[in-house]
Amino acid sequence: MYKNFQNFLQNELSEIHNAGLWKNEREITSAQFSEIDVKDVETQRASSLLNFCANNYLGLSNHPRLIAAAKKAMDTHGYGMSSVRFICGTQDLHKELEREISIFFGTEDAILYAACFDANGGVFEPLLSENDAIISDALNHASIIDGVRLCKAQRFRYANADMQDLENQLIAAKNCRFKLIVTDGVFSMDGNVCPLDKIYALSEKYGAMVMVDESHSAGVAGKTGRGVTELHNLRGKIEIITGTLGKSFGGAVGGFTTGKKEIIDLLRQRSRPYLFSNSIPPMIAAAGIETFKILAENNDLQNKLHQNTEYFINKMLASGFDIKPTQSAICAVMLYDAVLSQKMAAELQNEGIYVTGFYYPVVPKGQARIRVQLSAAHTQEHLDKCVAAFVKTGKSLGVI
Ligand SMILES: *Cc1c(COP(=O)(O)O)cnc(C)c1O
Repeated sequence: MYKNFQNFLQNELSEIHNAGLWKNEREITSAQFSEIDVKDVETQRASSLLNFCANNYLGLSNHPRLIAAAKKAMDTHGYGMSSVRFICGTQDLHKELEREISIFFGTEDAILYAACFDANGGVFEPLLSENDAIISDALNHASIIDGVRLCKAQRFRYANADMQDLENQLIAAKNCRFKLIVTDGVFSMDGNVCPLDKIYALSEKYGAMVMVDESHSAGVAGKTGRGVTELHNLRGKIEIITGTLGKSFGGAVGGFTTGKKEIIDLLRQRSRPYLFSNSIPPMIAAAGIETFKILAENNDLQNKLHQNTEYFINKMLASGFDIKPTQSAICAVMLYDAVLSQKMAAELQNEGIYVTGFYYPVVPKGQARIRVQLSAAHTQEHLDKCVAAFVKTGKSLGVI
């Protein structure tokens, strides 16, 4: 039987190859940081690169205090939980991390998941049904799209950050019992922040609730990095926030939903990825708690990230590059041409800069770019080297 299926799979695989869409995984032999050792695919030799494509916004992925907290928790709380939360998989550490998350976001309670993919996958179905409406930004993360698919609520979609279209959809959904507007906090391809102030105003006008996925915005957006609810002065006003521990907050694994108490209470009773999937390990919970302790002490990491982002963007603009307006730590260097984006990313790697080129279908046709992600772990020297490499390759390829 497998023979036929094997042929089918081989065809699929070669189609991906032939379309130039094959994703290779490059092996990093060091810890995740601003400087990493990356194995060359052909020679298998590792070379040192400056990393500008990690979600390590606050530079916490390799932070000594998180590592120490994780090690200590292994000694005091063991390695794994061998249980879901409601049977025997809840430790004091899990409850404390949930408290820290709600303090950070100014919310009433929080619930942990193995990943934000699970948080988004398990948030809609227990809360909404046929009579209700989910109104979702067209560029929302795949996990939101999947979560919405699992829910019986009626689906409405609005063009990315398009408030006129959102209003049209709210009008179209006006007869639904409950309405939930769903948006990413930061859209990962352009780095644009969702217009949460305007979304909130429309939600008030049409009697809808709001959910924001803060995965790329938590730790980044807002003066103290509390996310888009801080940036738009809406702390405590948004019903549902989801997020990840896999980006700004240490970069390991784990996700969460945080917001109104009754919503979190019902998710604990009914959310399938929570009820039927293992608890996060103690070391992850402990390092998560340490993360929020570090962020509560001062604003140093967030300030450094903001300074780095501003410094880099100003230098790139002054060098003549076309940069998408951004309020996050994502900087899209627009090249428009797919082949050029791949060429330039390859040349930048030869210059010691690790960045990724994106082109259709990851971004719209004719919108190819290199995405640069800034981090608090970058030094000014790193940023200068990166800009210099962009200028050198940009000149040789006729971009600037
Ligand atoms: C990264 C990301 C996720 C997935 O988070 P994981 O914890 O890695 O599953 C979900 N939503 C958005 C918007 C993201 O950027």
